[in-house]
Amino acid sequence: MTMVVDGQRADFDRARSFAAVKDLFAKCHEDGGYFPMLRMARDRYYCLPKLDSPPGRTMTFRGRKVIQWAINNYLGLAERPELIEVATEAAARWGIGAPMGSRFMTGNTDLHEALEAALSQFFAKPSTVLFNYGYLGVLGTVSSLVAKEDIIVIDRQSHASMMDAAFSSHRFLPFRHNDLESLEQSLKRATRDCRGGILVMVEGVYGMTGDLADLPGIIALKDRYGARLFVDDAHGVGSIGPGGRGTGIHLGAQQGIDIYFGTFAKAFAAIGGFACGDEPVTEYIRYNARSQIFAKSLPLVVVAVLLKALEIIEREPELVERLWSNARKLQHGLRELGFELGNTQSAITPVYLPLDGVDAAMKIVSKMRDEKGVFISAVMYPVVPMGVVLCRLVPSASHTDEDIALTLKAFAEARDELGVGTVFPSSWTGAAADQGET
Ligand code: PMP
Repeated sequence: MTMVVDGQRADFDRARSFAAVKDLFAKCHEDGGYFPMLRMARDRYYCLPKLDSPPGRTMTFRGRKVIQWAINNYLGLAERPELIEVATEAAARWGIGAPMGSRFMTGNTDLHEALEAALSQFFAKPSTVLFNYGYLGVLGTVSSLVAKEDIIVIDRQSHASMMDAAFSSHRFLPFRHNDLESLEQSLKRATRDCRGGILVMVEGVYGMTGDLADLPGIIALKDRYGARLFVDDAHGVGSIGPGGRGTGIHLGAQQGIDIYFGTFAKAFAAIGGFACGDEPVTEYIRYNARSQIFAKSLPLVVVAVLLKALEIIEREPELVERLWSNARKLQHGLRELGFELGNTQSAITPVYLPLDGVDAAMKIVSKMRDEKGVFISAVMYPVVPMGVVLCRLVPSASHTDEDIALTLKAFAEARDELGVGTVFPSSWTGAAADQGET
């Protein structure tokens, strides 16, 4: 055995002695890639922190109870015992992983189809196709529809899954965030260059900044230029619009959205994604989305939980009202204290601090977590411009007035103790730069 390994090593060294061949893994020992300082320091505090309790408005971090603002549990469904009961019953009936095959081949069930039908009705679209993850759903949907001759026109601030879908297409044109003039320029260019079709890609609620896509304006333009519109409403599903029916319905624009996309990883407190649209389109996606066809079916335990979660959301529209009431109190309190929240129009609460670099971001995060008992996470350049740190708070329906009051106090104290000012770099316009968010 050792002989073989030694022989392989010798071959490897010989191959690398040819000047052009570099060790692919060399970068793993160097300070490149994302978050090099944190990786080199083997960080498990800012990246990959461990929360030790079930998800909820409070959680345990390093043995300490903290108020949790860094998970996407909009309606508080992560804390609902009914959903755990449904999952337990489903696991007892079908086992953990069933169906044991791709949905396409052996893994379709009445429950998968019932969930698709219920989602179509809830989001007022003719038809729906399920995915195992939102991320894979974006990739699957876009790659199934966009061929070599087609062009993607995408908002620059779109989520990484959408940017990755664009990167893997043949041609894409980014436009300035929510800027209709810039969109029109890109559409003009696309129509000039294009031999196929055009797909415009935007988010409904922007995940980092909390502002909403100007859907009526975007729809008017995409119609004028004969394009189709994909809206990823991961953060709008369940959290905005009447009874949580999303940004399209909230803005009276659902009909103009050609593909309405969402994930179950946030308001539904589970996992999976979906794309809604006209039936021929969802059927095309169903038969062509490789990320779903060549992957195992969404487990029945999850499907059963999702059906129940949707039933709860429909039955209890007050959850959305509670979420908004909490969001308003939190945002009002932070603004009263002088914090800058940009132009959020949703529950997402971005606190922009005029701080520079990783060290400053770490200081505020660790002060809040370890000294104040408030769990937040922060992002910095290149997600936001240089000189700005964005602490992103995600309220839920289950947060209490006391959670909000303690958090406001903690923010005010942390700012004073760290001497954080309120003057922003002149380059800062109040909108985040490019993509971000996990
Ligand atoms: N799209 C957006 C806009 C997102 O914020 C996210 C992040 N959760 C995803 C897609 C990916 O969804 P999932 O976590 O279900 O893979």
